[in-house]
Amino acid sequence: MAASKDYYQVLGVSETATVDEIKKAFRRLAKQYHPDRNPTNAQAAERFKEINEAHDVLSDADKRKRYDQLRRYGAYAGAGRGGGAGAQGSGGAEFDLSDLGSFGGLGDLFSSIFGRRGAEGGGRADDEDEIETTVTIPFRVAALGGKVPVTLPMAEVCPTCSGSGAAPGATLSTCPECRGRGVISFGQGGFAVNRPCPVCRGRGRVPSERCHTCGGSGEVRVEKRLVITVPAGTEDGTKLRLRGQGTKGKGDVVVVLQVEPDRFFRREGLDIVCTVPVNLAQALLGSKIKVKTLDGRRVVLKIPPGTQPGQKFRIAGQGIEKNGRRGDQYVEVHVDIPEHLTPEQEVALKAFAERSGMRY
Ligand SMILES: [Zn+2]
Ligand SMILES: [Zn+2]
Repeated sequence: MAASKDYYQVLGVSETATVDEIKKAFRRLAKQYHPDRNPTNAQAAERFKEINEAHDVLSDADKRKRYDQLRRYGAYAGAGRGGGAGAQGSGGAEFDLSDLGSFGGLGDLFSSIFGRRGAEGGGRADDEDEIETTVTIPFRVAALGGKVPVTLPMAEVCPTCSGSGAAPGATLSTCPECRGRGVISFGQGGFAVNRPCPVCRGRGRVPSERCHTCGGSGEVRVEKRLVITVPAGTEDGTKLRLRGQGTKGKGDVVVVLQVEPDRFFRREGLDIVCTVPVNLAQALLGSKIKVKTLDGRRVVLKIPPGTQPGQKFRIAGQGIEKNGRRGDQYVEVHVDIPEHLTPEQEVALKAFAERSGMRY
């Protein structure tokens, strides 16, 4: 498969941009989309990859020259521009052709610029518009289920031109590059391969003035707000697929759920475990303590006399409910030992120790 993006568009520079302009644009965009600044944004990561790829080719005089040559033939347009499955299929044929060496220099170009993408092979046709993103959810939402809002940057059809790329009132004329066919044939003999025309983006017609909102691409990047429903008992790393919520209402959004640890609760399967501190007297004499449950209530737990440090008590049915099964809550007792004693306490404790036959 050929690269699906126009590298000049990716960097937002003109075809005649100088090396300096390219480097400047690259630095600005790379900073903006750097994964360190967008840790949970899958689309930014994808953009960052594109930006690097575009810079890699356009900043190298030799690669750029060969890319420009290929770009003239529309090969860069790949399957990304409305080509659909047909274009994807021809992408495979393209590589077979370059292997035959029928394009001479172009064969090298494919392997040097597009080799990595080509090597990934087919099967990505349906993933073109898929967006994957990671969302961190609170422990309680993961355990009990709930709704979480997510904001994703994605491409939508330009509202000004409805995707046509033409400014309001602009006249359309036949594309001079493809003569209105919308595709450019590329290849020899019986192996003519059609690619979407890069000048008219496969539309066959070009406007007298390009849309100012989208710059003629017919799409705009927007922040789309989605609300995801997290099922009860969600585990860390669970993937949710939101069908048809992706770019331009096609494609899916895949949300990877990352569960935030809780300060009080932790999970063991469907059971919830927490640690509760008690004092020495409570452990020795027994007590009633209040324990927080997952649903925010407090229940009274009876601690028997002689409770040992680390001893666990079960509160039945207060765990996670999933598929008709319900876990329990386990309370682990932590006995606080006083770090300092007053002289009076020391005397009392020594008396207690002597009477109990404890040596120290
Ligand atoms: Zn537009
Ligand atoms: Zn055209």
